[in-house]
Amino acid sequence: MSEPCIFCDIIAGKTPARLLHEDEHVAAFADIRPVAPSHILIVPKKHYPTLLDAASAGERDLLGRLLEVAARIAAEHPGADRGFRITINNGASAGQTVYHLHLHLLSGRHFAWPPG
Ligand code: 5GP
Ligand code: ZN
Repeated sequence: MSEPCIFCDIIAGKTPARLLHEDEHVAAFADIRPVAPSHILIVPKKHYPTLLDAASAGERDLLGRLLEVAARIAAEHPGADRGFRITINNGASAGQTVYHLHLHLLSGRHFAWPPG
């Protein structure tokens, strides 16, 4: 049996989440511990632990879809013209804690650069 995965459980409807988008390949839902006024996670329905895993599996279309959904949700957000940030944490030293590939879409405040 495969390892338990919180994002697979959300996608399967076994764990509740505030869904903002769902299609055949991609789901988007609100982060449970937001670090910005709007903090949305965009995830592929297919389980890949990291960006590197999806890229090395040749998932070009899927990776493009994730960005496209993120941009579309960002554009619908009231403050989108003031800016937003899309982040992928890949691996422990980048702060990845859930090993199911996801994009963070953050908006609604200023974001410093470089990130911490
Ligand atoms: P990472 O640190 O792996 O880049 O991001 C994982 C994100 O998933 C974190 O921002 C964390 O708050 C979020 N998260 C963890 N568990 C849950 C959950 O059960 N539901 C939701 N909606 N978000 C979660
Ligand atoms: Zn998963």
